[in-house]
Amino acid sequence: MNETLFPRQPLEPDDQLPQIHRLLLGYFGEQKPRKPWDPLSQFIYSLLSSRTKTEMTYAVVQHLRERFGTWENLRDATVAEIEDAIRDVTFPEQKAVQLKASLEGITARYGSLTLDFLARYRTEKIRAWLEQFPGVGPKTSAAVVNFSTLRRRAMCVDSHHLRVTQRLGLTPRADAAITEERLMRLVPETWTAEMLDEHHQLIKQLGQKICTFSEPKCRQCPLLKICPYGQKQVAVMEEDVLRPRSEARPESR
Ligand code: SF4
Repeated sequence: MNETLFPRQPLEPDDQLPQIHRLLLGYFGEQKPRKPWDPLSQFIYSLLSSRTKTEMTYAVVQHLRERFGTWENLRDATVAEIEDAIRDVTFPEQKAVQLKASLEGITARYGSLTLDFLARYRTEKIRAWLEQFPGVGPKTSAAVVNFSTLRRRAMCVDSHHLRVTQRLGLTPRADAAITEERLMRLVPETWTAEMLDEHHQLIKQLGQKICTFSEPKCRQCPLLKICPYGQKQVAVMEEDVLRPRSEARPESR
């Protein structure tokens, strides 16, 4: 490892997430505060959002509001109608079935279509209650409790978050539930639900714009000095540039 290029900046265990947060805030600037939705609207958004761009999911939820008028009308629509209305998100066939079944399930268990009553429950109980419905995993339940008016402490670990934290060496490769559990152990007690939301937004931006799946732009990343994966990537690129032409790696055919 070239120490001149990458002066060591080891992360202190108690300061890992705060340091990452500060560096990302310095790079991306303060995040626009979210106007939290009611839990049911957030639930519908989060069910539709996987593998779909944020702007597209917002547009589809807006379309659902206009087309059906109420969430009860959405619940009572046929799967084919719902699938048609959400065709711009990924996997609309699967999500239409899951959405209808979840809305019917909520109504059957609570007696009406609302999630406002969850405000009376402990966070763990809310998440377990939500995760009984088809297609609802820890990412969706964390989004509902953290982003909605419930405003509880939770870390929504999406695919960007998984990738970035693994590359940073914060958590070994694991699923979203285990990764969230490990990350939450690093979250300072003083972080509010709003700060966790901001942290999620910052990491997501990094994953969308810089630490992308196939071509991470490590040289311009604000976390390079604390990222072992990024430092290795850049060191390999530097070595390739310095290698004499005669030693250049042969082109593959
Ligand atoms: S340095 Fe590279 S691998 Fe590390 S977080 Fe930044 S973009 Fe991702």
